[in-house]
Amino acid sequence: MTSERRRGASGTDAVHAGTSRRRPHHTLTPSIAQTATYTFESSADLERYMRGEDADPDREEYARYGNPTVREVERRLAALEGQDDAVAFASGMAAVTTAILAMTRAGDHVVLFRDCYRRTRQFVTDTLTRFGIRHTLVGPGALDELEAALGPDTRLVIGESPTNPYLYCTDLSALARIAKAKGRVRTLVDSTFATPVNQRPREHGIDLVVHSATKYLSGHNDVLGGFVAGPSHLVSLVRELRSVLGANMDAHAAFLIGRGMKTLGMRVERQNRTALSLARMLEAHPRVERVYYPLLESHPSHSVCQAQMAGAGGVVSFVVRGGRAEASRVVDACRLATIAPSLGGVETLIEQPAVMSYFEFGDEELGRLGIDPALIRLAVGIEDEQDIRADLEQALGSP
Ligand code: PLP
Repeated sequence: MTSERRRGASGTDAVHAGTSRRRPHHTLTPSIAQTATYTFESSADLERYMRGEDADPDREEYARYGNPTVREVERRLAALEGQDDAVAFASGMAAVTTAILAMTRAGDHVVLFRDCYRRTRQFVTDTLTRFGIRHTLVGPGALDELEAALGPDTRLVIGESPTNPYLYCTDLSALARIAKAKGRVRTLVDSTFATPVNQRPREHGIDLVVHSATKYLSGHNDVLGGFVAGPSHLVSLVRELRSVLGANMDAHAAFLIGRGMKTLGMRVERQNRTALSLARMLEAHPRVERVYYPLLESHPSHSVCQAQMAGAGGVVSFVVRGGRAEASRVVDACRLATIAPSLGGVETLIEQPAVMSYFEFGDEELGRLGIDPALIRLAVGIEDEQDIRADLEQALGSP
């Protein structure tokens, strides 16, 4: 947890990173460029643009190829991640799927950590399979399994750290080293749960980083978005495919996400503090069987998290004593925490994965997926810590 990293990611940089101080009409904040297309003065002007000779490198032709409001948040995210460039999408899943498609072709093999976001797993196991891209699933943070899974056709390793809902962390430097030792294997890490305040995968040698901007980056639970950041030569491949698939971020969404990103450092530092304190309280609570928060000594990823993250984020998962029905009772008894999926916003949200994301799975399948029916996922917001603590205590009830 170095102060150097905290300064870089969450000081004034988070407000100004990647932005220009000179705007049209001298506005402080960016304008929302609400346009589907762009104009040219003459055919000669257009030809100059087409030849790449226009004086303005940011000039655009058509909104599916680019938008200045979106371009600004792309640059800001790239600056926060310490990456060359970034490309923005209409949702986190649009970012994940476009990045994977841009890095693979029929006949390739990809390796995926099993405990990734379940729609990413579904995309790899169902959709990619239909297009002749094979995969191997490996266990949470299991680098020995990863090494064994890499074959001559492996082109991409897809990781996520920390993961949802158990917050397992993968040693990103080791992951990058193992992949690079194989030659033509690229690495992609979904860093949504970490944010660039807590973790920068580039510093560990990871090629591409993906975010659901719906979560911490926008921070207000009011907009969908996603980013892929990385070295220019890889981001340009992703951008090229976005122009074809068309899952672009809208200019209004970019404005909201950019506004949210200005307070990212403050919000995440508070969420880090609140979540760690609540995790400790829950761990000592007699009605709680087990707590999953990677800065707790009891978490299997404790040492990895300490080594590579500045904080562990705002999600705390815990299993209550008494099984599925008791977990539902606790969730229902919360007054401040609201039942909803998602995380990383200013409002505290709570959910029971067996009733929310994994509702269609029976107990046997939940067991196979490692989801405890009595697991509760708490995503802390920025409310007063004492208020969230009091809400949980009254919901859990006295022993
Ligand atoms: N990645 C992770 C880790 C997520 O938790 C989610 C959504 O919950 C996504 C990707 C997908 O993001 P979105 O909902 O913005 O499409």
